[in-house]
Parts: sequence; structure tokens; C-alpha cells
Amino acid sequence: MRTVFSKFKGFIIDLDGVIYLDKRPIPFAKSFISYLRKENKQYVFLTNDSSVSPVEYSRILSRLGIKCSDNQVITPISNFIEIIKKDSAKKEKIMIFSSKKLKSYIKKQGVKIIEDLSRFKETKNILVSGNINFNYKDLMYASLCIQNGANLYATSIDNSYPTELGNVPATGAIVTAITKTYPTRVTNLGKPSKKIFKLARERLGLRKSEILTIGDNIKTDIAGSNISGIKSALVLTGKTSRLIAKKSRIKPTYTIKNLKL
Ligand SMILES: [Mg+2]
Repeated sequence: MRTVFSKFKGFIIDLDGVIYLDKRPIPFAKSFISYLRKENKQYVFLTNDSSVSPVEYSRILSRLGIKCSDNQVITPISNFIEIIKKDSAKKEKIMIFSSKKLKSYIKKQGVKIIEDLSRFKETKNILVSGNINFNYKDLMYASLCIQNGANLYATSIDNSYPTELGNVPATGAIVTAITKTYPTRVTNLGKPSKKIFKLARERLGLRKSEILTIGDNIKTDIAGSNISGIKSALVLTGKTSRLIAKKSRIKPTYTIKNLKL
């Protein structure tokens, strides 16, 4: 695969199913990243999983022996912070429905948020990110914010995610409950949204033609890369089998078995 990788200056790399699976490193991932470093290639990690902050991800990766700095990890939260910082109209009156850890990370990034749920009528933007402590009160106030005209941002629109117990509700399922209460437009902050790929490209500081996306999910990694005009490699170490890939209407530029060089 060295011949494919050598064509590109920068890489947008998914985490789960590409670098690790159940937080255990996938064979060849570590040596692939070492190769990128040795060849002076640029890379960022782009994940839809918002359960931890970008800073925590960089720590997790470092512990696995994969070198990366805090700003080399992009999650839907990074996209949210970028949107809020760029658009002054969106800077204020924000309510966050996420884990405590994520909320405190967002606050640390300088985003002012409304803590008091009873101020739902003045809230202009809400962020919903599924978490184990999400409860009826959150659902109720998120719906009330929407009814009073707030914009709805979601860290993903995936309805479920796999666990050892089986598939459990993800952010998309929570967002659906909110929009069933009061129909509204949802802004998906995660892949395949064009905006998050744009953010990844900006971090790399490269042209589209110089970048390769590497991911295991056709619907998020490959579809998002395709609509963003970036070449992609589907790696078969995660969610997608060769058969599923063959049947899909969404086609990557390359299909690779693993990250072996
Ligand atoms: Mg993945």
C-alpha cells in the first residue's frame, strides 16, 4: 500500500475500526503512523465518537504508542466549537445536553453556556450529545428549547451503537425523541457532514487533492469524503466487510485489507 500512501501529503484517519477496536490497537496501525511521521506526512484523526474530548483522545492514543498532539484529533465537538467561535450570532445563549466531562471541556474552550434549565425560553442554540446520564428532564428541556426557536445541533445522527450487551440508543435516537416532540431541523456535527471534513482539511493546511481519508465506515467516512471531494480508502478492519463494500452504492477510491505498508 506504500505506493498508494506515497501519493498523498495528508491523511484524515478514523479511529474506531482503523486504529483500534474496543480500545485495543489494530495490527499495523502503529507502524503506519510511524511511517507517516518518518515521511513527514501530515495527519489528523477524525472520529464521530464524542464520549470523550479531543484532549482525552490524544492521551488515549499516546498510551497506545501512537503519537499525536491535542489539535490532531477532531470530533463533532471540535466542529461545534468552531461554528460557535466563527459566528458571533451563535456565540451566546447556548445550552448543552452532554456528559459533565464534555460540558466542562466546552466551557474551557471559552464557550459561554446557560446552566439553568429554566432559562429555556431565551436559549438560542442547543447541543445534544448522548450520554449515560441523559434523562427525561434533559429530553423535556431540550424539546422546550426547540419549541421556543432554538437551533438543534447533534454530535451524530446514529441511532444506535454496539456494546457487549447489544445495540443501545445513540445520540440519533435521543434527537429523534426531541424532534418527535417538536419537529425541527437537525444540524449533524459529525461525519458525513461536509463541515467536519472542511475542518479536518483546514487543520492539515492542504489542498483536497493532496489528502486521503482512511476509514472503515462507508456511510460516514467514505460518503463524507466523497461529498467533500477528497479521495478515500476503505479499510476492512472494522465495520465493513468486502461483501458489504461490494454491495454499497457508495464507492471509495481504494479498498484496502489493513494498514500494512
Ligand atoms: Mg470507524
